[in-house]
Amino acid sequence: MENVIIVGTGCAGLTAAIYTARANLSPLVLEGRLPGGQLTTTTAVENFPGFPDGVDGPDLIQRMHQQAEKFGARFQFGTVEEFQSGKPHRLKVDGAWLETKALIIASGASPRYIGIEGESKLIGHGLTSCATCDGAFYRGVPVCVVGGGDSACEEATFLTRFASEVYLIHRRDSLRASKIMADRALSNPKIKPVWNATVTGYLVDAAGEVEGVKLRNTKDGSESELALKCVFVAIGHEPNTAAFRQALETDSNGYLVQKTGTRTNVEGVFAAGDVADHVYRQAITAAGQGCAAAIDAERWLADS
Ligand code: NAP
Repeated sequence: MENVIIVGTGCAGLTAAIYTARANLSPLVLEGRLPGGQLTTTTAVENFPGFPDGVDGPDLIQRMHQQAEKFGARFQFGTVEEFQSGKPHRLKVDGAWLETKALIIASGASPRYIGIEGESKLIGHGLTSCATCDGAFYRGVPVCVVGGGDSACEEATFLTRFASEVYLIHRRDSLRASKIMADRALSNPKIKPVWNATVTGYLVDAAGEVEGVKLRNTKDGSESELALKCVFVAIGHEPNTAAFRQALETDSNGYLVQKTGTRTNVEGVFAAGDVADHVYRQAITAAGQGCAAAIDAERWLADS
């Protein structure tokens, strides 16, 4: 029986691990499909306080991991398949059941794809959501980024290091991104915005690799095609709550609902970071929530 299990090793999970470990709760931390969370798929993080020259995302995560381990957090690879609330709470992880008094869910959110039929088969064959991971494979060829937020601008700017040109395909004619990120992207001569357009299909070559996209203009409905070698999708995220939705309250988009502080509707279960936050979604706010969840869990354990 564990005192506290933490699901997730992004900023929220690792901060919760540091705090619960320092409170001598010997947390068990579950590392899921993307150990380290979304920061492991970014490059420079320029807005995490304390790093005036920026910090490499994976590096920041590794430091948090070390810090948690130093205070006694234990790490285990595994994906939660099922959750049963109770005393104790039970989690089925890769076929085996674990029991815990308190549970902190910090399983984050995963990148969303467009939803075109057969899309999942193309992931890794010219379709991806991670420029940091796959950008270097597309040197000297045209690529596109789909989306108009900070992620899309960041990915597009990063991809100009490799690609011959980067089409930024957005469904409206103004970006959602913050001004600094938007200006940086739009002033880059390699980035070519394609306004008022949605991707309606992929063009695939004989080897099964993407060789272009079909576009529809959102204003006049006209259709066109664009030849390119890779599509980087940056249109937001889905919360990783599938295993918890039956037992815990979620909102209409599947995000866990926090009642008081980080408490969910179930006693002894706490939620932190992007799994419960579709508003701020920053590394620093996720870390802050991880801290709050650890303190909430610690106090709940002391009182129960
Ligand atoms: P986002 O802000 O939600 O932007 C998603 C973009 O995708 C929007 O432009 C949206 O269009 C578009 N979109 C959504 N669904 C679509 C669909 N089905 N087809 C076509 N386009 C679609 O997501 P994000 O860019 O991932 O950013 C998430 C959060 O992380 C934000 O708070 C952002 O500030 C933060 N972030 C920060 C940094 C940084 O500071 N370094 C970097 C990345 C992200 P509409 O605009 O029309 O809705």
